[in-house]
Amino acid sequence: MLETIFRKCHRGNQISFEEIVYLLSRTDESEIERIFAAARKVRQAVFGNKVFLYSFVYFSTYCQNSCTFCYFRKENPNSPRYRKTLQEVVDIAVELKKSGVHLIDLTTGDDTFYTEHPKRLASIVKAVKDETGLSIMVSPGVLDEHGLELIERAGADWYALYQETHQLTLFDQLRQGQSYEKRMFAKRYARDLGMLIEEGLLTGIGDTLEDRVHSFREMKKLGAMQIRTMTFVPQEGAPFEGVGNQGYQNELMNIAVMRLLFPDVLIPASLDIEGLGGLEKRLMAGANIVTSIIPPRKGFAGVANCKYDIDEGCRTVAGIQNTLKKCNLENATAQEYSRWVADRRTIDKHAARKCAGDFIRG
Ligand code: SF4
Repeated sequence: MLETIFRKCHRGNQISFEEIVYLLSRTDESEIERIFAAARKVRQAVFGNKVFLYSFVYFSTYCQNSCTFCYFRKENPNSPRYRKTLQEVVDIAVELKKSGVHLIDLTTGDDTFYTEHPKRLASIVKAVKDETGLSIMVSPGVLDEHGLELIERAGADWYALYQETHQLTLFDQLRQGQSYEKRMFAKRYARDLGMLIEEGLLTGIGDTLEDRVHSFREMKKLGAMQIRTMTFVPQEGAPFEGVGNQGYQNELMNIAVMRLLFPDVLIPASLDIEGLGGLEKRLMAGANIVTSIIPPRKGFAGVANCKYDIDEGCRTVAGIQNTLKKCNLENATAQEYSRWVADRRTIDKHAARKCAGDFIRG
C-alpha cells in the first residue's frame, strides 16, 4: 500500500482522501521510517541537500485578538508588551543578516497601531529591505487590500497568516471572534498581488486526521508556497489546554506527508517547539527551512516566542551545523535563497498559482 501511494505521489497522480489518512495514521516504526525516507527522497530531488535559514523580529507584542492558544492574546497579563522603534528593528535585522540568515520575518501581534495604519508597517518593511537586501516575510495579522498593496510595494516577498485549522468549529474555538473568510481573503489577495504565501497548521489541539487532510487540501487550493505545522504547546495565561501532551508525532507525520504532497514548497523545522534537540527529527521528516535562528545576544530573546537554547548559543548558524551534517544537509547561500524566491514569484505570476487545483481524488 505504501509503495503504491509513493508511486502516485512521485508521478503527480491524484490520491484519495483515505490514502492520505492512511499515511498519517501509521504507527509501526518501520512504516513511519519508510514514509520519512520517501519524504527525504522527494526533498533531495527538488532541493538537493540545501536548507534555508530564517529568523524573525517580533517588533510588536500588542494584539487586539483573543486566540485561545496564544501567549500574546490581549487578555494575558503575563505577556510583555512592547513596540520596537523602526531603528531598533533595522538594527536587529542587520545583526541577523550578519549572523547568516536568508530571510527576516517581520512579525507582530494583530496590532491596530500597524493594521489600521499600514503605512507605518510599510516603512519598516522598506527600511529593513533597503538595509539588509534580504528577502522579507511580513506576519502582521490580517491586513486589508490597501495594507497588502503597501507592504508589497515596500518590498515584502512573503505574507504569512496562519489559519491554524481549516475546520470551522475548531477555528471558532481557537480564533475566537475572528472571521475565517477574512483571513483566507487576505491571503488570496496577497497571492494575487504577487507575494508568496505562508499558511500554518497547529496540531495537538483536538484536530482529527480528517481535519489535517482537509487542511492540506485548503493549503493546496490557496497555492501556499510555505506551509508550516507546529505542535500546540500550552501557554501560560492562555485558556486552551488542548488534549494533553501527545508528543510531536502528529507534527512529524504532517511534515513528511506534506513533503510528499507538496514536493516544491518550503516546510519549516521550527526550533521554537523543542529547541535544537528537536531539529534533527524534523529535518529527517522532510523539512527544508530552519527557523528561527537567534544570535545569543542579550536582549535578542525578546524577538522570539520561545527561549529554547537561545542563551546557550545553540540557535545560531554555527550552532546547527552538527545537526545539518548528521542529516547530510548544508545551509544554502543567501543568493541561492533569493534566486529561489525570485524564480518562484515569476513562475507564480505566469502560471496563475491560484489555479493550483487539487491533489486529492474525489
Ligand atoms: S495568534 Fe496572533 S492574532 Fe492570535 S492572539 Fe496571538 S498574536 Fe494575536
